[in-house]
Amino acid sequence: MVNTVEQSASAAEQSALEVAQRAIAALLQWAKTELPTRCKLLEESRVLQEAKRLARWTNSNISTLQLLFDDVELSDEKRRTTPYYQSIAVIPPSQSKAAYPEISYPIDREPTQAEQDKLKQKIQQEVVPILAENWHNLSLLMLILEKYGSCLSLDEPKVALIDRVRVTAAIASALSNNPDTTHLSLVAGDLSGIQKFIYTISSDGALKSLRARSFYLELVTEEVVQQLLERLELPRTSVIYAGGGNLYLLAPANVEAKIHEINERLNRWLKREFQGKVFLALTCHKFKKERVSDRRFAEEWNESIRKVNQQKTQKFRTQLSSLLKPRNSHTPCKVCHRDDLPEDDLGSLNKLEPGSPLACDTCQDMFELGSNLFQVNSIVRSQLAQLPGAVFTISFEFSEQPSNCIYYHLFSGKRPVTSNPEFAFLINNWSLEDYQFRYFRGKVASLLLGNYYQSGAEGFIRAEEMATVADGIDRVGYLRMDVDRLGQIFANGLGAHYSLPRLAGLSRQMSYFFKVYLNILASDRQQNFLNQNQGFQYLTEGDRKNLLFIYAGGDDLFVSGAWNEVVEFAFDVYQSFRAYTGHNPDITLSGGIALEDEKFPLYQAADESGEAETAAKGNGRDSLGLFGSALKWSEWLGAEQLGQDGDQIIEQIHEKEKDSKYWDLNNLPSKPMLLGVLPFVSRLQPKLKADISRNFIRNLLITAELQEQRVREIKEKRKQEDYQHQLQDIQYYLHLPQIAYTLARLPSRIRNDPNFESVRTSLKSPYNAPYFRAISTWIELLTRKSDND
Ligand SMILES: [Zn+2]
Repeated sequence: MVNTVEQSASAAEQSALEVAQRAIAALLQWAKTELPTRCKLLEESRVLQEAKRLARWTNSNISTLQLLFDDVELSDEKRRTTPYYQSIAVIPPSQSKAAYPEISYPIDREPTQAEQDKLKQKIQQEVVPILAENWHNLSLLMLILEKYGSCLSLDEPKVALIDRVRVTAAIASALSNNPDTTHLSLVAGDLSGIQKFIYTISSDGALKSLRARSFYLELVTEEVVQQLLERLELPRTSVIYAGGGNLYLLAPANVEAKIHEINERLNRWLKREFQGKVFLALTCHKFKKERVSDRRFAEEWNESIRKVNQQKTQKFRTQLSSLLKPRNSHTPCKVCHRDDLPEDDLGSLNKLEPGSPLACDTCQDMFELGSNLFQVNSIVRSQLAQLPGAVFTISFEFSEQPSNCIYYHLFSGKRPVTSNPEFAFLINNWSLEDYQFRYFRGKVASLLLGNYYQSGAEGFIRAEEMATVADGIDRVGYLRMDVDRLGQIFANGLGAHYSLPRLAGLSRQMSYFFKVYLNILASDRQQNFLNQNQGFQYLTEGDRKNLLFIYAGGDDLFVSGAWNEVVEFAFDVYQSFRAYTGHNPDITLSGGIALEDEKFPLYQAADESGEAETAAKGNGRDSLGLFGSALKWSEWLGAEQLGQDGDQIIEQIHEKEKDSKYWDLNNLPSKPMLLGVLPFVSRLQPKLKADISRNFIRNLLITAELQEQRVREIKEKRKQEDYQHQLQDIQYYLHLPQIAYTLARLPSRIRNDPNFESVRTSLKSPYNAPYFRAISTWIELLTRKSDND
């Protein structure tokens, strides 16, 4: 049911408001200032007391915040003994001119008193004056707490103020009708089939359709959340996490029937809308309320995920029988290939272009949405089919009756004037002013989106444009990347430290990285990467602007762009993420990149980058699959003047080769000066660009191929028993004569350059043999002018 009559604040919302007001009072006390007299604090209700007890909000002690990622532990790898701290910063830093919030890297010292005083001042100047007018605006109070309280702790050094408050509010809302109840429930939802819906399209759909599809699914997730909140009469603070097709809400016990009903209704709609490709698993798990406070919550969390997965499998089984039914097939849609519609139902994909391919309704809509999606700054959810000023409207038709439709109106302005918004979303917006806009009447929330894009001739940059601006060969790069073992990190990474506030903190900080910080890593590399004192390797010092994010959120991303910028962006993302998570050895990323012709079908590009990512995962994770090689990030980044980093790489090599017995561990070659991929690429590429010494690169590639061929042969032969003792470590020496010959044929100007000495000797080291393919391919593509070259 969609509410038609506006309701006064529910008991649940009132409880959440009470929590937020208490938190603001505590924050002001820390900032050495007082609540304006018009802001009254009610006496602590029974609900509030109980919620605070369960969320372990005890003394309202606000202080500096240590890095929660430090507590994540999945292995017995060595880790730091001194804590990292969150630097003191408002989101976004108020003096910042950038379009996106800057990355907040942890620091290895406690923030000074002076730094804290600066934040206190800001709170006095920016927050206090607006409180009296907005004392009952829950959205705004929560935004204030997030903006100023993400870098502070509340009652435990590693629990952020915002996370403790949000969880307390969620518990309070769930208890609001009965503080003495013994149980709560965790509602978990999962939209599956998303990948299929987004990626299974041909190139006729174009990149912008792909991006539109991923945005559309974000709104579907939002709509599921909205319907749950309305039906359960809960405020937005009850959402623990929502994004990328996943959602978690804290709710009162005994809401099972309501959840079931919503699930049925939404799935009927999804089935119609997506021809059974997307469905929603929605479950409700009841648990003892005491468990939110400690490590036992992990069991409930995992049980809830198990239930969702079970429902997914079951749904798939029932769906399968209907999918297998014979049906009439018609001319397929040229974009998504569905063939269940009569040809009359297909229409021109691009109405402005004669001869444009025939596509189904959904694909036409997505194409049009893609054309209108750039510069969208706010979205209004409404039951009205039309709102003046909207640049585009997405309709969710839950049944034939108009009263059962919901519309999402997209606006380019930040504050659309609307007479009756059911809800407004402000995209990547942290401005306190916008949330006070009177037309929203407090029904407003931020929607964080990883949505960076470069503009092109027709809005978003197109694949052809990406290929043209790329260095070297004209190719488009597709990058997929995600956090390794994320499920395990959430399921048991926090060990004895597990609690709901901590879990909420982990998921918030992961989301920040992928939805918020990735944007600025692309749009403003100078400030957020190059000028950082983090020991990053830059590759080149230019910008990485020629990118288009197709999806970024939760814990993963799919980004397209000029191929060389996509490659370098991947290295930026990895290094930035590792610094952001305090170089925790158990929090790593794996990625895969595919380089394609601009006309290459998108679903294949998505597949191929996915395969490269799978290869990276197969390489023991913490790896990148690129140019046909899957190597650890440390091997890609490499090492110079073998210090500790190099030793670590060499250890990895020995570890990896231990079973294959290619290295004689008692008789190892000496360590080269340069090791890995990047040190060679960065030295060779500028020289070869000027010199047209393409033969050198080709020979290097041939050497790599010969070598890989030899390794395969040896592996094959070793399967036979009598081959066991022969040819130990031989294959990595095989390359020597070939390399010596190749080096000798370089122009003497290069050969005799003293700076080239380290390259020459290091290339001959067998330790570098596994990297020849990556080194030569990378340089080859960078120096190639075009396909016909
Ligand atoms: Zn279609």
